[in-house]
Amino acid sequence: MSWDFETDPEFATSLQWMEDFVREEVAPLDHVLGYPHDVANPNNRKLVKPLQAKVKDMGLWACHLEPELGGLGFGQLKLALMNEILGKARFAPIVFGCQAPDTGNGEILAKYGTPEQKERYLQPLLDGDIVSCYSMTEPHAGSDPTMFKVRAEMDGNHWVINGDKWFSSNARFASFLIALVVTDPEAQPHNRMSMFIVPRETPGLNILRSVHVGIDDGQEGTHGYVRYENVRIPADHMLGDPGQGFIVAQTRLGGGRIHHAMRTVGQIRKAFDLMCERVLSRETKGELLANKQMVQAMIADSWIEMEQFRLLVLRTAWRIDKYKDYMAVRKDISAIKAAMPKVYHDVATRALQIHGSLGMSNEMPFTQQVLSSLTMGLVDGPTEVHKVTVARQVLRDYEGTDGLFPTGHLPALKEKALAKYGDLLDDEI
Ligand SMILES: Cc1cc2nc3c(=O)[nH]c(=O)nc-3n(C[C@H](O)[C@H](O)[C@H](O)COP(=O)(O)OP(=O)(O)OC[C@H]3O[C@@H](n4cnc5c(N)ncnc54)[C@H](O)[C@@H]3O)c2cc1C
Repeated sequence: MSWDFETDPEFATSLQWMEDFVREEVAPLDHVLGYPHDVANPNNRKLVKPLQAKVKDMGLWACHLEPELGGLGFGQLKLALMNEILGKARFAPIVFGCQAPDTGNGEILAKYGTPEQKERYLQPLLDGDIVSCYSMTEPHAGSDPTMFKVRAEMDGNHWVINGDKWFSSNARFASFLIALVVTDPEAQPHNRMSMFIVPRETPGLNILRSVHVGIDDGQEGTHGYVRYENVRIPADHMLGDPGQGFIVAQTRLGGGRIHHAMRTVGQIRKAFDLMCERVLSRETKGELLANKQMVQAMIADSWIEMEQFRLLVLRTAWRIDKYKDYMAVRKDISAIKAAMPKVYHDVATRALQIHGSLGMSNEMPFTQQVLSSLTMGLVDGPTEVHKVTVARQVLRDYEGTDGLFPTGHLPALKEKALAKYGDLLDDEI
């Protein structure tokens, strides 16, 4: 019997080191640097590389991969505890070599890549020298991958890709894109697509624009509207087998989704901590906000929701480690994916409200957090689709009844109970 909510002391020491390191060394980067994935930027290199070296020295680098895939084999549960800390700072995932979408891309390269693909693309990714992009969504379709149209056709020993992809995050910083593309339009919907590694410098790979999330702040965004125009890539750049693209995609999305959830626990905690500090600091009508019952309700609701979500994330991570198969834990992953935007949104909104006008301003992180919570309802599939998955998986364990009344119909249950125990009762009931 094992049922334990404690972290083993040795790993707790590593977590404490991470907590201090992220707070003191990494979080300040968020205020002086631009985009974490902009690895070629001289300022990023200057400040990020030494911190990455410290993480490597501590043996905490790129902990998302299993040893047979080239990682340290920490497993998802330890990773969850780590990501709660890394989620609090924008630059922390890249400093620890476990940032999206490179974690997911690394995972599929490790699992499906040939030795040559691993050497050319996975190794520099694992070393933190380059970043990558995942190019799946199209302008006309996102939630339903069977509608994708971007097409690759064989020409000699090359594939030629044509079509548009939308919201390919970090395309402009990436050394290569991993693209889900139709290779056999006549096949069954889930066997039509294959996965390709597309080097960024390939002629015909054009970023029409880089879209920004939220209000236009004058900055160039990071989500690439990418046009593939006769992009010729060698046949050996297919990742996995022809027609296997959908399966490969599921592999990366499983990990990607739970990693988002782990980091989101960190962001929720950040909002919650700030909210608690504020209610113990700000007075109105002669007393602290902390003494107002409606404020107490906000604190209580936030704590309950945050802890429920965190436990579900940790349990899901534990189940992934146990079954070593994302498909076997599909329901759990979809459940946390569906729960994540609401918990994040509700806690961040309460933190904003508690801080009043200051909370609404660009001098606190809450408006950005609320925006991010909405993002979490879309990335890696919208909430509705994940709820459908949860419901379908749950209902597999049930069956309907042929009877006119449900099996929980009380008169029938009473009749059965009387038939079983009636003779033993002293008084009639
Ligand atoms: C910040 C951000 C980063 C992203 N990064 C990437 C990336 O790197 N690579 C990439 O390929 N994509 C990326 N995406 C795209 C993301 O995967 C899609 O937004 C998502 O899959 C939804 O697709 P869509 O935007 O086309 O919306 P649609 O498919 O048009 O869906 C719109 C809405 O319709 C509703 N809906 C859809 N399906 C159902 C259903 N079955 N039942 C009920 N309602 C439904 C939902 O409300 C849904 O939000 C990113 C998105 C965001 C916001």
